[in-house]
Amino acid sequence: MNRPSVIAIDGAAASGKSTIGSKLARQLGYTYFDTGVMYRAVTWAALQGGVSIEDEAEVTELAESLVIGVTPPTQGDGRQYTVYADGQDVTWAIRQPEVDAAVSPVAAYRGVRRALTQQQRQIAANGRMVMVGRDIGTVVVPDADLKLYIQASVEERARRRYQERQARGESVTYEEILTSMRQRDQIDSHRDYAPLRRADDAIIIDTDGLDINEVMDRIERLLGDFEPASS
Ligand code: C5P
Repeated sequence: MNRPSVIAIDGAAASGKSTIGSKLARQLGYTYFDTGVMYRAVTWAALQGGVSIEDEAEVTELAESLVIGVTPPTQGDGRQYTVYADGQDVTWAIRQPEVDAAVSPVAAYRGVRRALTQQQRQIAANGRMVMVGRDIGTVVVPDADLKLYIQASVEERARRRYQERQARGESVTYEEILTSMRQRDQIDSHRDYAPLRRADDAIIIDTDGLDINEVMDRIERLLGDFEPASS
């Protein structure tokens, strides 16, 4: 049997999906694509351009026109990839707390989702892809060959994010991160369009208390005897 050509990985913020997705892609020789950067890039562009986050029409227009590019890392500063918004390197800018706070309302807009989902489907059509997000298995690539749904408690996720931010020298408290993450979870799971939820045929991986090697072992067992896909 062939290796799945698109692996869809969904889960809440800091569930471990990016770490798992990028490792898996490297192992399989697949392309890793984190769809969250697209919602973040639109949010960053809105904040940067003085567009009100509440202005659905303007934010949607921005999502339709912004040229988002993702390439292999162009600098050795810990980035997994480089993200461009209209040609500008926004890799770190899209990780700022201001973007964290505004991204979920932006991602709840129907027109924003329509514009970005369309681009994500084109990217997925290249095959041999590990695509990570909130709605990959349910909406973007519902016929993905393998779907994983990554879970972890909100406290564990906030702790991971806190450690990441501290390691980057940012001054932020655990409580701030926990509060922001709870807000994001609430909006992402309850929005009308493509809410975060497990696809019926997705396999749940609970990462609470597991280290990355234990998680990867579990996924490798799932992949079993698959051979690389030709497309
Ligand atoms: O994965 P990350 O935390 O970077 O995603 C940022 C935000 O983008 C999420 O909180 C969610 O609102 C939105 N998102 C989404 N659908 C995706 C990926 C991300 O709505 N497929």
